[in-house]
Amino acid sequence: MIVMLKKGYDEEQFQDLVAWLKAKDIRIHFSQGVEHTILGLVGDTTVIDPSLIQALDIVEDVRRIQEPYKKANRKFHEEDSMVDVKGLKIGGENFQLIAGPCSIESEDQILKIARLVMEAGATILRGGAFKPRTSPYDFQGLKEEGLRLMLKAKEETGLPIVTEIMDASHIMMFEHVDMIQVGARNMQNFELLKTLGRVDKPVLLKRGLANTIQELLMSAEYIMNEGNENIVLCERGIRTFETATRNTLDISAVPVLKSLTHLPVIVDPSHGTGSAHLVPPMAMAATIAGADGLLIEVHNDPAHALCDGPQSLTPEVFQSLAKRINEIKGFAFRRGDKL
Ligand code: PEP
Ligand code: MN
Repeated sequence: MIVMLKKGYDEEQFQDLVAWLKAKDIRIHFSQGVEHTILGLVGDTTVIDPSLIQALDIVEDVRRIQEPYKKANRKFHEEDSMVDVKGLKIGGENFQLIAGPCSIESEDQILKIARLVMEAGATILRGGAFKPRTSPYDFQGLKEEGLRLMLKAKEETGLPIVTEIMDASHIMMFEHVDMIQVGARNMQNFELLKTLGRVDKPVLLKRGLANTIQELLMSAEYIMNEGNENIVLCERGIRTFETATRNTLDISAVPVLKSLTHLPVIVDPSHGTGSAHLVPPMAMAATIAGADGLLIEVHNDPAHALCDGPQSLTPEVFQSLAKRINEIKGFAFRRGDKL
């Protein structure tokens, strides 16, 4: 349920309302927008008679929210949320370019790629230390050593880093990581989501391979419900009957999500397509569709990459793409644009 307050509402009456709601075990999500002040009510709101609230002097409107996601709901928070990654903002009008290898392979590799993507215009460095691989015989990542190398790359370049967590029990190892990624395969690992909800760090939540947009938002809700509201959603392609691409990149998820939620949305055209030659057109399409950023895999030697070489851009191609993205991002479609 949301309660929209009148402009210049009386503070004392407001505090009375808050106390009355709290006594009913209702948690209040307060959102002060430019136009409206909105109270998002979370909990068992069936115990509340909306007409009682509507009758108050300070109340403009009361509405029940049909969607099962509340805190992630745009109706709870009209304006775009901005997520801060070590001083860099994602969302609102802030666009970030996240780039780096699929996995950290060696000190030389990650340091080299980190420098190259930074020079090319990346603002956040990615790289997997714990890799979710389909086959147990494939390279599983350098794990703790990979995290150590990632931190070294952060130190050398000054770029904030994002890397994937696969197990809630690993959380202590991520202390110096700037943003924690939940991969597609763990989007519904609810215990992991709850753990991340209790951490004071931004989370990059990727859409599951076979999950709906609503399920993605419910996963965000798991994290937010524990207190952490710094979430960036990532469309990375879904499994369909199509086999020409690794996944089917759902670009429409960007405007759909933007209408449903205030959380920032980025797109990963690398996993979304599986082929390096498809990454630039999809990256541009996602930017124009209104994405708040891109996540792109880059490797200095894609042919010998230990993971996802075929979809990795060379640093040279990434540099050209980054330039193009910078040129076109001002033309992105924004929610509410009237044509
Ligand atoms: C990744 O970004 O490294 C990754 C494994 O992606 P996804 O979870 O989207 O498959
Ligand atoms: Mn990958």
